[in-house]
Amino acid sequence: MTHPTPDAPCQPSSDHAVGLAWAARDDSPERASLLSSAELGGPCDAQAGVTSGYLLWRDGALPQAVERIGRSLMHLRQQPPSVWLGRGLNILAALQSQLNRPDLAVSLYEEQLTLARSIHDPELLATALHDLGVELRFSDPERARQHITDSITAFRALKYDFGVAVAHLNLAEAEQYSGHPHEALGHVQAALTYPLLRQHPLMTAELQATLFGVYHALGDPRAAGSAAELRALTTHPHPEVHLTAALALAAHAAPPEAAALLEAALQRARELGSHTLLPAVHEQLSAAHARQGHHDRALHHLHETLRLTRERHAAERHQSFQSFEVLQRIQALQEVAEQERTRNTELSAHLQELRALNSRIRELGRTDHLTQLFNREHLFNEGERLVLSATGRTPLAGAIIDIDHFKRINDTWGHQLGDAVLRQLADLIRAAAQPGDLPARYGGEEFVLLRPGATATQLAVTCRALNAHVQQHPWHTLTPDLRVTVSIGVADTTTPDLDTMLGTADRRLYSVKRSGRNAVQHLD
Ligand code: GH3
Ligand code: MG
Ligand code: MG
Repeated sequence: MTHPTPDAPCQPSSDHAVGLAWAARDDSPERASLLSSAELGGPCDAQAGVTSGYLLWRDGALPQAVERIGRSLMHLRQQPPSVWLGRGLNILAALQSQLNRPDLAVSLYEEQLTLARSIHDPELLATALHDLGVELRFSDPERARQHITDSITAFRALKYDFGVAVAHLNLAEAEQYSGHPHEALGHVQAALTYPLLRQHPLMTAELQATLFGVYHALGDPRAAGSAAELRALTTHPHPEVHLTAALALAAHAAPPEAAALLEAALQRARELGSHTLLPAVHEQLSAAHARQGHHDRALHHLHETLRLTRERHAAERHQSFQSFEVLQRIQALQEVAEQERTRNTELSAHLQELRALNSRIRELGRTDHLTQLFNREHLFNEGERLVLSATGRTPLAGAIIDIDHFKRINDTWGHQLGDAVLRQLADLIRAAAQPGDLPARYGGEEFVLLRPGATATQLAVTCRALNAHVQQHPWHTLTPDLRVTVSIGVADTTTPDLDTMLGTADRRLYSVKRSGRNAVQHLD
């Protein structure tokens, strides 16, 4: 199995495959399936999974759909809020509704609604309002009516006529259920103005069924015309269409006619296989037979109702259980992923802290604490490394800088002032150094400046400038009458021998000391 990479970016532009797959999900599901399958396992895995999950759901593979959508949501929830997260929430909500978990469905639709508002996605908002309203139809009719009504405004703004029509149909059913036939009639009539109704026979059947019921409730003579429309639909090849039509007609027909209608519908449905409306057909048939005194037939259809209902409940329970297990697994995975994320964040923070401490320790290990120049240990470690590249063309030059009569300074003004002199001289040496130079405290009042790739003559130029800066430095700000000078011996080497080079520089330094101090010598 390929592992999705939730951190890799997926930018689904409209022409991107996942966007195309989503757009094709209803009109050409096979194309949608191909397109989204190709993206699974890639950086757009979570987005592709939303379409795949939708298609699985449409095919009735509920546990698989739950698994796919659940996984997508797990990753999408870790990414910035997106329209894909909203789509995934919508599908999972519909799945939960189908699995008889209206409580979960409602909370998922509510999450979709909040998301749609926060990312200002009008389509996501319209579907969230509509689907949440439909879900709440029986449990909270007031809120349901409000949400579906709001969805009509939202669908209108999107110029999505089909959405407007479906919302009116759902409102009509809700109003009829609440005993408001007049309001229901208004909504059916609004839905019937949808121009492409012919392409949606099921919606037509549902509208006509509702209209027929409403006319009956109102005692409206137009019921006859509506009955004719429904009768025409009882021969429709789609079982849901002709069963809906037959059930609606039978509900208001005399028992013999009702029985005949339903027996015919049953016959047609049997040719086409089982259907979720079949228990309702058997139940109405049983009632029609009972009213005619045909008790054995009534009993037979009641048995059938029970058998089909029990079968359906068993299948639902099975699917529900499987889906529940899948969801549990996904939730556990999500928790583990969450824990790992937290642990990773903590670990990387600790690691960064450790790295900082480590480099600070390394720095401290190389630094002379009084002057903040490199210390003697680092001078030799690094010097031995630098001297390895010393050749005739790239020599290594070094200077030893020694304060003149430093003992007297200490003796006259004390050690503290001596320390201040050491620190200020260190600053002057640091300022004289070039990039790549290695300035270090050699010990006591002696300093070394190494310069890779330079000759003694070249380094002597810098040293003479340093010598002059030391003389001109305003030492009197430390204490009046204080004067500081340095003597410097400079040498270079073209072989990997640091000790000899420093020995030569030291010799030249003593030569300066003997001949009166405060000067630079780089030749013998
Ligand atoms: P010369 O010109 O010949 O170099 O004479 P000098 O007095 O500078 O040389 P000497 O080696 O006699 O004295 C060095 C003095 O540096 C001795 C020591 O007390 C002092 N010293 C060494 N380290 C430190 C330090 O960290 N702080 C202070 N204040 N003095 C130090
Ligand atoms: Mg000395
Ligand atoms: Mg000295």
